[in-house]
Amino acid sequence: MDLLSHTITFRHALAQWYATAQRPLPWRTQPSLYRTVVSELMAQQTQIKTMLPYFERWMQRFPDFAALAEAPAEDVLKHWEGLGYYSRARNLHKLAKEYVALEPKPRSREDWQQLPGIGPYTSAAISSIALGEPAAVVDGNVVRILARLTDDARVFKNNGEAVKAFTPTAEAVLDQGNAGEHNQAMMELGATVCLKHKPLCTVCPVLAYCAASRKGSQEARPKIERKATVKVEVERAWVLQAGKLLLHRIAEDSGQLAGQYELPRLETVASPRSAKQLLASKSRSITHRRIKEHIYQVKAKPRIDASLEWVRVEDIERITLSGPHRRWIGELLAR
Ligand code: SF4
Repeated sequence: MDLLSHTITFRHALAQWYATAQRPLPWRTQPSLYRTVVSELMAQQTQIKTMLPYFERWMQRFPDFAALAEAPAEDVLKHWEGLGYYSRARNLHKLAKEYVALEPKPRSREDWQQLPGIGPYTSAAISSIALGEPAAVVDGNVVRILARLTDDARVFKNNGEAVKAFTPTAEAVLDQGNAGEHNQAMMELGATVCLKHKPLCTVCPVLAYCAASRKGSQEARPKIERKATVKVEVERAWVLQAGKLLLHRIAEDSGQLAGQYELPRLETVASPRSAKQLLASKSRSITHRRIKEHIYQVKAKPRIDASLEWVRVEDIERITLSGPHRRWIGELLAR
């Protein structure tokens, strides 16, 4: 069956499946505008199973917009520590402050787009799920499902271009009278059935509408050009003296990681000829970058500048470190 000629039965099949197959996630079992906003921002770039404990902790500490608006910035960042992409936490904090002060409260998708960190995707999700507005959500999951359902072989330069290209199709299949549930059903289908690799077509509720599965081309859809992998090597310094670890505090104006601590770059604390010993080499990937970090124990007296701070080992738990740095520091202190 061609998707666009059978949108009514498609919506029905999707809705029936979602009614019984959806996971009982905390923002679904106890829905509210605030919980929708937090869950949508937290879920960006993060898998649901990773964000769930963060969401629960967040709700205990910041149960509503007012509690979040009043919280100190360090406290907000601390509750986000390990989730990455920290501008989301900063934006959520700013958003709460603006929301609390705003009268009348934002009621439409356009109103929500004026708030910090809210783009076309998030505004469609919030306004459809929490406010019942007929806005279609289009993210990577939805692009993947639609490209497969329509067996679209176009090549897109990046995700943004693909999202733009599939927005009219998403709007055409949207259940206007039940947009929030429909959008969540599409997202759930992408997260649990129409997987990037090895989609579970045999149990898919919309298999009958899927042109790619009929041709066996589903794993080749969508076609999005990938950026070439870039390899990066970084050297870090480990300087532990008298129960204090030397850490670098990232400047407040430096974007994503502003205000957090990390192990300092080797070149900032030691000269190339300083005595040092390799303690560990760690690899990680951030989007298309493959980063290898080598951590050296510096044996000479370190150079100290204003961006460096001695932090007592017992205080490390209280400060905000990026996820990988906290893991590495924990491992090295345990040796
Ligand atoms: Fe995705 Fe397979 Fe369902 Fe098509 S049939 S939408 S490829 S899971």
